[in-house]
Order: sequence, then structure tokens, then C-alpha cells
Amino acid sequence: PVLTSPLHIAVVGGGIGGLAAALATARAGHRVTLMERAARFGEIGAGLQLAPNASLALDELGVLPAVRASAVAPPRLVMMDALTGDEVTSLDLRSSAYTDRFAHPYLVTHRTDLHAALLTACQEHPAVTLRTGHTVAEADQDGSGVHLHFAEGHTPLTADAVVAADGLHSRLRQVLVGDGEPVCSRYVAFRGALPTGKMTGRMSQHAASEAVMVWAGPRMHLVQYPVRRGELYNQVAVFESDHYTPDSDDWGTEAELEERFAGACEAVRDALPLVSRDRRWPLYDRAPISTWVHERIALLGDAAHPMLQYLAQGACQALEDAVALGQALGRSADPAEAFAAYADRRRERATLIQTNARRFGEICHLEGMAATLRNMLLSSRGPEAFDDISWVWTPTPAPAPAL
Ligand code: FAD
Repeated sequence: PVLTSPLHIAVVGGGIGGLAAALATARAGHRVTLMERAARFGEIGAGLQLAPNASLALDELGVLPAVRASAVAPPRLVMMDALTGDEVTSLDLRSSAYTDRFAHPYLVTHRTDLHAALLTACQEHPAVTLRTGHTVAEADQDGSGVHLHFAEGHTPLTADAVVAADGLHSRLRQVLVGDGEPVCSRYVAFRGALPTGKMTGRMSQHAASEAVMVWAGPRMHLVQYPVRRGELYNQVAVFESDHYTPDSDDWGTEAELEERFAGACEAVRDALPLVSRDRRWPLYDRAPISTWVHERIALLGDAAHPMLQYLAQGACQALEDAVALGQALGRSADPAEAFAAYADRRRERATLIQTNARRFGEICHLEGMAATLRNMLLSSRGPEAFDDISWVWTPTPAPAPAL
């Protein structure tokens, strides 16, 4: 659209959410300056699942072909019992039941590849200016705009409005909402992608199937899937620590990882030594908030709705945010009006997914009789049973059935 008076929008944070928001805003006809605190743009060396709601959003942002070029479209999502090694249930992503319901593919990608596709699109858009080494420390606003101040002492930047996409530990959320530190779940992830050829013996069979494998066990699970045209294999091992200590890194250790997975089936134990140990990731979320917009500043992505990863929706929701923001800014060049429309469209759905992600984690980590009952219930469902998940994978506001 051609707006008579385009705005200057500042985006804080150059992760998947911030880059997607910058692109959507520029495509809506506005001028964008994006500020990232890191010296270089980038993402971590692990994978990301993109459900059809995310591939729809990428399509709307014009980057789906670039993402598809390196992503893998897995044939199946499979849940296995991590103790017995038996298949519990699966979803057939190549069935007509899938294609009848979802117009867009289920993809798995390397984070760096998705991030690079969004970054390239931003770099190629004449209305986007990208800055690294800019850490937003403070923001003050008046009737005419927002003034951003930087920790590095750069000249402050004034914009008509600001999108805060500065992640889980968002500085702007801290200033505007003040809801303290994120909530630690006491779970930790070890994750990373390795050359697929390293998955030898029994492990090569699952890797070759290209399926998303979720091995669910008592207070732990392992997720595996291929990325980057199948050249790399992503593995994420997650478990609950018995030694959680606030303000300490001395819990959720490698030794605890080995201990928690010791009773797993051979396929999981074979894979465990190949799970990246470079870094441990404590897993956090926050309680939902009702106010995402503070006059001329709007929260987006993890800054607005950080969630546990059990529905694999954090980045998908950030992409949906970006599309909704672009559409709102395409309809109105009044920041207050556009931000209100964006938040109204997104808040209820993102909140539902945020709260259901916690519950899905609990279901995944059940023990004993509860796990047996879960397996019985889930195994009675066929590979075309998309009813329970389709509200998550469809970005229209819809009532959520109980998971
Ligand atoms: P971030 O990626 O955190 O980006 C924030 C950016 O802001 C960073 O670049 C940071 O450097 C910058 N920044 C921070 N503060 C400032 C400041 N003051 N000034 C300037 N810049 C700043 N989601 C899925 O959709 N599918 C999955 O399969 C999936 N799996 C996951 C697995 C795990 C183990 C975890 C932990 C998460 C997973 N997620 C998944 C969630 C997903 O990773 C996040 O929701 C998503 O990356 C959030 O993107 P974001 O851009 O909002 O935030």
C-alpha cells in the first residue's frame, strides 16, 4: 500500500521476531530502523520446527521460497516412548487429511537458515536500515515519538513508534511492564545440529526417515529431526533437574543429563553422546500479560509472550505477530490505532498457546501409570487425527479444545 505519510518505526532486537517485524513494517510502506545489541546478526546452531501457521506467515512476508530452499518437509511427526522404544502415535504430514486442512507445509529448518533468509530480505528492502552494536538501555516517549538511548553511548534515536522484539529478557518489557524475571521451569535443554552422517548404526534409520522424532519419557525427552536439506541432524535433549538453584549455573549439568537418561531405550542412549554439550539452556517462560502496547511502544515475539518450547510455537507466534503488525500498519499510519489493532488480533491466541505449551510439557513428561494411560489414549488415534492440533497450526482466532 502507498501511505500518504509513512512512519519511521524503530525495531529493537534482530532475532527472528525483530527481522520479521522490520520486513512486515517496510512492506506495509513505512521506514524502519532495526537495532541489534550483538556485534553481528546471527542465530544459534540448532534447529527450529515451523508448523503450517509459520510457513503461511513466511509466505505472507515473501520469504517462504528462500526458507524452503534449505528446509526439510518431514513426512511424519512421531512420538515414541523413550523407555520402551515403542511408537506411541504419529501424524502423517503427507496425507490428504493434512493437505485438505493446511495449505502450507510443515517445515524443519536450521535457525541460521531462517534468520539469514529474513536478514537478506531486510537488507534488500530499501526502507530498512539495520544497525548492530546498539543496545537499547532506555526509552522515553512523548506525544510526538519515542526516544531510544543506547548503552554504548551512540546518539539517541527518535522514531514515531517502537516495536520491542528484544526477547525473553526484554529490557523494554522490564521498563514498561515490570513483571520481574522470567519463570524458570527447572528444565534444561542441550541441543545442536551435527552432520547427518554421524548418525550411524541403529540411529541412521530414524535419521534417514526424515521424520520429527519425539522420544517422551519421565521428566525428560529427546527431539530429533533433519535440517538443511538433510545434511545436518538436529538433536535436543531436555530434562528436569533436581538441583535447581536460582541465580546459579550449577544445576541441570551434563552429569544430571546422563543420569536422567540412563533408563532410556537403546535408541535414545545411542543418540545421547551425540547431543551437543557446548552449552546448556535453562528453559523459561512468563505468565501472560494483557497489555502489549504502551502508547507508542508495542511488544512482539518472546518479549510479548515467552513460552516453553513444548508446542514448538515460540518463533511461529513471533512470525504471526509480524504479519499482523504489518497488516495493521498497512491499514493505519496512526501508531496508536495500528498497535491497538495488532494487539487485539494477536493477544488472545498467543496467550492460549503460551499457557497450553506448559500443559503439553507436563503431558510429555508423565511417569508411571500416568504415562501408560497417556500412551493408551494417544495410540488409539490415527495418523490423520489433526483435530486436537489444528487450532495451534491455524492462525485464525478460534476456541481451543482441551489438549
Ligand atoms: P530472540 O530470538 O531472543 O531475539 C531477541 C533479539 O534481541 C536478540 O538478537 C538479542 O540480541 C536482541 N536484544 C536483546 N536485548 C536487546 C536490547 N536491549 N537492545 C537491542 N537488542 C537487544 N519456536 C518455534 O517456533 N519452533 C521450535 O521448534 C522451537 N524450538 C525451541 C527449542 C528450544 C530449546 C527453545 C529454548 C526455544 C524454541 N522455540 C521454538 C522458541 C523460539 O526459539 C523463540 O520463541 C524465538 O526465537 C523468539 O524470537 P524473538 O525474536 O522474539 O527473540
